[in-house]
Formats: sequence, C-alpha cells, structure tokens
Amino acid sequence: MHSHFTSILFDLKELTISNIENIHDDFFIHVQPIEYLQPCPQCQGMDVIRKGSAYQRKVRHLPAFGHRVFLFMPAIRMMCKHCEASFVWQYECAASGKRYTKQFEASLPYQVLGATVTHAAKRTQTPVTTVERVFKRWSERESAHVQATCKEQAVDSRQLVLGIDDFAIRKGLHSESQAL
Ligand SMILES: [Zn+2]
Repeated sequence: MHSHFTSILFDLKELTISNIENIHDDFFIHVQPIEYLQPCPQCQGMDVIRKGSAYQRKVRHLPAFGHRVFLFMPAIRMMCKHCEASFVWQYECAASGKRYTKQFEASLPYQVLGATVTHAAKRTQTPVTTVERVFKRWSERESAHVQATCKEQAVDSRQLVLGIDDFAIRKGLHSESQAL
C-alpha cells in the first residue's frame, strides 16, 4: 500500500498508516507519527527519547466512502533528557484525551445546519451530548465573528443600518447567541 497517498486521502499529514482494517462496516486505521521524535513541550529541546507506547488511543476521524473511520494512535511515552520532563506524544490532529480528531469536530456543526442536533447525532452516529457541545462552541465562535464583521462594516459605512436579524446566523439559535 502506498501509505503516503493514503495519508493524503484521509487528510492525515503528520501520520503514516501501517494498517487498515474493515470491521463491522467501520474502518480502523492504525497510524504512527511520521517523525520519530518531537520537541519537549517544556524546554522545546530535542534531547528527547521514546519510552514505548502506553496504550492505543481510539480516535474518531472523518468518514470515508460511507464508512465510519477510527484511528488507532499509539500514546507514545516520551522523556526529555535535558529537563527530565515526561510527556506523551502530542498529535496535531487530536489533542491529548480527545476522542475525535479536529477535522471530525469541525465537520459536526455543518451536519446540524438545516437539521437538528438529534438528527445530526443520529446521522453521524455520534453522542447527542458531543454534537451539542461542539455545535454550541462553534455557533458562539461564528456569532462573535459575524458580529465583529458587521461592526467593522458599520464603522466603514455611515449609511448602514443594522437590524437584529443581521446577526442571526441560524433560525432557532439561542437568543443570547443572536443578541448583539
Ligand atoms: Zn525538556
């Protein structure tokens, strides 16, 4: 298998794929970081060593070809010889302790638009609480962004009159997300 091309296909630039399994209609992708070492998060030095993998993280990623995709990522234990800090490998695509990749989380709010949280949760086979949490954070960020853009435009244009509806990014949003 041309792992490099497969990594591009799955949008996993920092990772190399060692194996893909198809179990119960889901894809299980076993990955490793491309780099052998990474800088110490404390002193930023590269005088670090690997101390083996503690366990495999199971992280949900974007669906592919109609299948759910899970990444198996080793939790690689690292030690810095310079400052003696112990740390676990930091993946760009999924922060420590996260069960979803950033790409997957970023895709969830768009599943909710034009539907409901419950419907999006069902369609993506993701817990309602997760979809709710991700969508709430996204809509707060989007709302702040829309407000900032509108204010900028208002400052630039002397004749612009803004109504409250100009700030609604989606019907049915909670009032405090819509309010200026
Ligand atoms: Zn260090």
